[in-house]
Amino acid sequence: MTFEELKKLLSFSESASVEARWILDENLSDSDIYKIIERRKIGEPLSKILGHRGFWRGDFIVDENVLDPRADSETLIQAVLEKFPNKNHSLRILDLGTGSGCLLISLLMEYPNATGVGVDISQKALEIAQKNAIKNGVAPKFILSDMAKLPKDLGAFDIVISNPPYIPTKEIETLDKNVKDYDPLMALDGGEDGLKFYRIIAEKAPAPVVFLEIGKGQEKEVQKIFEEKKWRLWGAKRDFSGIIRVLIFKKDL
Ligand code: GLN
Repeated sequence: MTFEELKKLLSFSESASVEARWILDENLSDSDIYKIIERRKIGEPLSKILGHRGFWRGDFIVDENVLDPRADSETLIQAVLEKFPNKNHSLRILDLGTGSGCLLISLLMEYPNATGVGVDISQKALEIAQKNAIKNGVAPKFILSDMAKLPKDLGAFDIVISNPPYIPTKEIETLDKNVKDYDPLMALDGGEDGLKFYRIIAEKAPAPVVFLEIGKGQEKEVQKIFEEKKWRLWGAKRDFSGIIRVLIFKKDL
């Protein structure tokens, strides 16, 4: 099948070109491609059909137990690289709500001397994250824990990173089908106002710097939550659509 033919078959998708190229890269038979298109048509994300997707410089296994890595989340990787430009830095990174592990693993790939711990409340997500670490050649430690009740002996960290669930509970049913039916609810639901996990992180983050992904328009409220806990805003970064996607806070411990 040619690129143009496939693109036409995918014309129902907003990102037909990207998806056509992606499918062709998989070297599949035409009959398999037709099966994929049928599943795409009913709203299943391509990454979940194929079982993996590219994020930053890595390739990540995804399934129904992990949030599908978003290109917008690469903004957090860029933000860390800008604040810590020395790639030889032996950064100690704690990732709260690691999911597929895409953020932590990508950073460990960028900083060869760094060490990382990924925390998640889902054992099934941690199994995927562990596979992704091996697949991408890095070796973080993964810990099953509620981020509000971190083990006391976790150690010291230079930075905390997190893309926590941040959708207000009531808005979940209004999300696109490819999100609400295929991403795990527990990776999306940020409680009544969507900010529950930012409150926990502002209170508990065991590091002097945090990098957070936030939802569209949440910057003012998240800043307030952190300032109340004596953090100061150290930076903000917009995603590809110009939305403020990452906030960075600093604290003198
Ligand atoms: N970016 C996701 C979405 O809007 C939400 C992910 C999250 O809650 N961290 O679909």
